[in-house]
Amino acid sequence: MTTARAVANLRELLRIPTVSRLETDTTKWEHFDDFIETVARLYPLVHSTLEMQLIAGHTMLFRWPGGSPGAPSVLMAHYDVVPAEAAGWDHPPFAAELTGEGEEQLVWGRGTLDDKGAVAAILEAVEAQLGVGHAPVHDIYLSFGHDEETNGTGAKAVAALLASRGIRPALVLDEGGAIVRGAFPGVTAPVAAIGVSEKGTTVVRLVVEQAGGHASTPPKVTATTRLSRAVVRIGASPFPAGLNPAMIGMFGVLGRHAKGGYGFAFRNARLFRPLLLATFKRLSDETSAMTRTTAAVTMLEAGMAANALAERATATLSMRVAVGSSVAASVEHLRRAIGDARVTLEVVNANEPSPISPARGTAWELLAATIERTHPGTVVTPYVQTGATDSRQLTAISDHVYRFTPFEMSKPQRDTLHAVNERMHVATYLRGIEFYSALVAAL
Ligand SMILES: [Zn+2]
Repeated sequence: MTTARAVANLRELLRIPTVSRLETDTTKWEHFDDFIETVARLYPLVHSTLEMQLIAGHTMLFRWPGGSPGAPSVLMAHYDVVPAEAAGWDHPPFAAELTGEGEEQLVWGRGTLDDKGAVAAILEAVEAQLGVGHAPVHDIYLSFGHDEETNGTGAKAVAALLASRGIRPALVLDEGGAIVRGAFPGVTAPVAAIGVSEKGTTVVRLVVEQAGGHASTPPKVTATTRLSRAVVRIGASPFPAGLNPAMIGMFGVLGRHAKGGYGFAFRNARLFRPLLLATFKRLSDETSAMTRTTAAVTMLEAGMAANALAERATATLSMRVAVGSSVAASVEHLRRAIGDARVTLEVVNANEPSPISPARGTAWELLAATIERTHPGTVVTPYVQTGATDSRQLTAISDHVYRFTPFEMSKPQRDTLHAVNERMHVATYLRGIEFYSALVAAL
């Protein structure tokens, strides 16, 4: 692989606007067809050596046959992206422009970090390993989802297909934690945060229905007042914070690397539980979300006319159910916080938190050793992923599901996920390819 070629390939893939939408009939599937054809053209050895099957329409599932039977590995990423309008971007979202030079060179565009960067890096790595004649010991699957950002049907179908073949992967690696600095108190070294579990993404709707009428004679409590009061009460009643085994594992690692008082507190996490939970709550929205269930009111709807009382008012909540809790317990917390029987709660879709994969054993050690090789001096820690990934579908068929993207992401860069000005350092991308390349070479 030449680095110029690798960057050119990434840019070509970034320019294809594979935006997935919840309403599948408004998704422009011709761009997905284009992406699939472009992958075949840019990665000829992958195309000619691996078997490729389209799953659930546009999810690409490749199988790289191994030399002997045994539990395969699955490398996952998704090539759909969330929408991006050009307004607000310093460089257009689907132009893949380059700026700067050397270590400071950036590639701009929707999907650089989430998650086409990983798709392209995996393909470069496999292409490079095929180029040097590598043959994996056991099968390697590459699964590139087409609707991770929306309905997740691709990953569900992949999990079902692998299950039907009786496959239990020894390693599943999907997008997730990145290599970060300054995200954990007291730790100055870069930290590779590998998600060993993920919170349960659940949608709940609050509904208030009551008689409407003329707006000139409103009752004391209208449907909209009642709903607003419920929303305010939810905001005022944070979910309880707690430590789960994944976090205890994380504190154990951080304790070996954190300086000063934090190091001591991390090493004695059970003893300093209240202090640590309070610190994580205060530190940032990211660390706060690691310790508790969250519920964000994302949509509000009510009313038909300016002069008519609303007969129905609804609030949609995007909830992330903490590992160690459950959908039922979280809904019960909401019910108590609202304290109003006339606000009904509808669970629109329920996803329990994922089981915890172990931060030890062959698969974990391989990831940690690979990170040490390509990103020396990086502290490797388990953590609980706060966002959802396609890999949760594979927890049914594998006990070793990990969520890690081998890219350095600064806090300003992480803030561009699903927002304007998503961008990545070219050097970061190239090191990411090295990570996947070293990983694949060891499989
Ligand atoms: Zn993603």
